[in-house]
This record gives sequence, C-alpha cells and structure tokens, in this order.
Amino acid sequence: MAESVSRPSWLWPRAAYIHIPFCAHHCGYCDFAVAVGQDDRIDAYLDALAAELTRLEAPQKVDTLFFGGGTPSHLSACQLEKLLAIVGRWFTLAHGHEFSLEANPSSLDEAKLQLLAGHGVNRISLGVQSFSASLLRVLERDHAPADAAKAFELTRKYIPNVSLDLIFGVPGQTLENWRTDLEEAAALAPSHIATYGLTYEKGTRLWKQERQGQVQKLSEDTELGLYTFAMDFLEQAGFEHYEISNFARAGFHCRHNATYWANEAYFGFGMGAARYVDGVRQTNVRELGAYIDRASAGKPTHFQSEQLEPRDRAFETMALQLRRAQGIDRLGFCAQTGFTVEDLAGTAMKKLEELELLAGDVWAVHLTRKGKCLADAVVAQLMAAK
Ligand code: SF4
Repeated sequence: MAESVSRPSWLWPRAAYIHIPFCAHHCGYCDFAVAVGQDDRIDAYLDALAAELTRLEAPQKVDTLFFGGGTPSHLSACQLEKLLAIVGRWFTLAHGHEFSLEANPSSLDEAKLQLLAGHGVNRISLGVQSFSASLLRVLERDHAPADAAKAFELTRKYIPNVSLDLIFGVPGQTLENWRTDLEEAAALAPSHIATYGLTYEKGTRLWKQERQGQVQKLSEDTELGLYTFAMDFLEQAGFEHYEISNFARAGFHCRHNATYWANEAYFGFGMGAARYVDGVRQTNVRELGAYIDRASAGKPTHFQSEQLEPRDRAFETMALQLRRAQGIDRLGFCAQTGFTVEDLAGTAMKKLEELELLAGDVWAVHLTRKGKCLADAVVAQLMAAK
C-alpha cells in the first residue's frame, strides 16, 4: 500500500478497522472470528498486528477508527496501551474524528476508560444484548442485567458517546420482554442503539441446539412484530432510524459503519479482518495461530482477495446504500459507480415502487417502512436484474 493521495473515498480509505479477537467466553450464537481461552497469546497477537500494519508503508490519515472484535475491552490496560501505541504509529486521526471501541459490560473499568479517552477514543459500543437474565442465559452471555447499566454509567463518565447493542428474536423472547429491553435501554439515554435480529449461523452452538430441538426459533411474523415495535418505540423515544438496524440521536450516526453502507473503501487489520482498498476486497485468515505466523513472517495475511467488475460493484453499492434511510443518492451513485440505478435495475425498481416497497424522486430512492421489513426480499429482487 502507498501513501494516501487525494482519491475518492470509495477508492482510498478514510476509515480503519482493527480486529481484536479475544473474548472471555464464546457466546453460543457467535460466529465472528474470535479467540477464547488464548489470552496468553495476546501479546504475540499485538506484535503480529504491528507487523501486519507495516504493509501500509506510510501513516494514513483517517476520519474514523474502529476497534472491534471479539472484545477489545477484554485486553488489560497495559495491553490496550500497547495496542494504542501500535495503531497510533500508522493512523493519524483527522479533526472531528470518530474513534470507536467495542466493549462488553463485564470487561470495562476506570483505568481502561481513562486510558482510552486519553488516546482519543470518543465512542463506545456496548454489547448489552438484553436486560433479561433468562435471555442473556439463552444467548450464553457472561454478564448479568445489572452489569450493563453499571458499565454504561461508568463509561459515560469518561466517554459520553455510548451506543448500546440489543438482540431481538431470541428463543423465548416475547413482545413484553422486548418492550422492557427497549425501555431499559432508552431510559439510560444513550446516543445510539443498534438492534440486531438473531441469526442461527451454521456451526454455532445455538444452530445445533435449534437443529436438535432444544431451542425454538421465533416465527417470522413474531420477529417482524418485534422489529416494527422497535421502529415505533425508538422513533417515539427520539431516535432516528437511519439504517435498517441502527437508531441514533441527532448527530450521533455511526460514521465508521456509514463507510460500509456507502460501499466506500476501508482499511482492515487483524485476524479475520476485511479490507476494501482501491477496489480490491481482502479477508484475513480467521485462525489465531495462522494469523500470528503469517503476519510475523511478513507473509500475506489474507486468504481471499477479489476485485469486482464495475457492474458487480455497482449492484453491491446499490444493495448496501439501500440499507440507509437516506437511500441512494442518484447523482452520487453515478459518480461512484459509473452507472445510473435505472441502468442497473430500472424495471425491478419500478415494480418495487408500485408495491410501495421503494419510494423516490429525481434525487434519491429509498426503502419505505414496508420495504425495511422486507429488505432482504427487496434487495434480492434488485439483484435478480444482474
Ligand atoms: S463477546 Fe461478542 S464476539 Fe465474543 S463470543 Fe460473545 S458475541 Fe462473539
């Protein structure tokens, strides 16, 4: 990679993601790239990350930096300090930056928060998932409901911009306990709330439990009811529904994730991390030992690399940008992809507008409320025009 020159943000990144895979415990539904019970390798991992980052060749200025996982807050204060020093050598933060870190309620303390705030971290994404003890047990989370509120208050003392993650569609969940989760989350007055529908990823413990009949998936109608309830509840509570799964108070959209939804470029480093630089998407190996060995030896850390054809990239951009409430800005889309949305899927789009799943004008096209509930089907219809 070379030094950043002034190229459009869909080609050269203004955003960087650093993956910290370590977790105290493997939650039953999770299929992220994680490393559990391997804390003795954290220092070796950080050294490997430092080696991988040298591929940048020159420091890069970014608007957003995101430490995700895994559980970045699982690192000790000393390890976090080392991580911040390593990453700080390669990324400088632009004025008005957003610097986020994902944390679990059970792994934050004053020393870590003080350190993070002192290094420019100004947004914490807290994995609450639920305030119900029984649903936290189903999800196999390792914190109790009271830990979330405590961690939130402690975080806010040092870093006021806190986002809460909630999960809906959990086996056994009812509209009543989902309402309670949303009420408890809103009562804390966070700047942002993300609500994710639970998925049964192949190979996870939850997936096996479902196949063996030990847990029962909620019906699609029930899940849809939970989603629409969240939309109404959070909008009434003053949150803007700015992306299919994300709600924010004014001025608190997640700018880093907005890069992904715009299909713009981003750097990604660490085990399992993806990057999208100069039109090439690469994904790093997901196994800790392999990542450490490859990065430390100066070998390529990715196992997948693809450069999409312009037309395929345009379709991908269309699918991602439709996730946003603002939808697709027609002129911006054309500048970014070289295609108009009509060129790509004009007929399908017209049909979807007639079905009131899409709406638009000469400037933009976006999902309607009905379209948000059927977003996957809408995108599938558009992709069929390929
Ligand atoms: S804490 Fe998060 S990343 Fe770690 S195992 Fe649980 S869900 Fe996965």
